[in-house]
Amino acid sequence: MSRLLLGFPRLANRGHATRRLTGRKVFEFIRPIHTHFGLRSLTRYDEFTDWKKKLTPEQYVVTREKGTELPFSGIYLNHNEFGMYHCICCDAPLFSSESKFDSGTGWPCFSEAHGTWEQDESHAGIVRRPDNSLGSTGIEVICKNCDAHLGHVFDDGPDPSGHRFCINSTALTFKPRAK
Ligand SMILES: [Zn+2]
Repeated sequence: MSRLLLGFPRLANRGHATRRLTGRKVFEFIRPIHTHFGLRSLTRYDEFTDWKKKLTPEQYVVTREKGTELPFSGIYLNHNEFGMYHCICCDAPLFSSESKFDSGTGWPCFSEAHGTWEQDESHAGIVRRPDNSLGSTGIEVICKNCDAHLGHVFDDGPDPSGHRFCINSTALTFKPRAK
């Protein structure tokens, strides 16, 4: 998340989208009438989920258009309560507060995803995906359940995992641990 396009009020976008939050809309999605998705699992989101209705414009740009919130702007950067960070789109639990640490980079960072066992992320709520938009070998982190873009993961995190999951606050919602 080092390459940001500034000049956008609170969000930077890497140029995937032609749509802007303000001003004239460039295009609208065309939603074809269809019936063959009727038997799909109700918990699996697809391209026809109306994310624009479900999310705020900021949440939409970050999670569905791979936007990146500006550094030091997110509400969870200095948030230290005990609990779980969930996906803003589908509510899946993604990161525990126990793995959160201050990386100094300006985004909330976690050393591992919730559900990780040692280095095995097969039961975690996230998946990794190569992201060439960073201009190098970036690894994108997305929600396994709904494909929401969450942020990126780097290999310069603290021991023992060595991972640094750099996640947009905008992609998360926090639930405190029950007392
Ligand atoms: Zn999700």
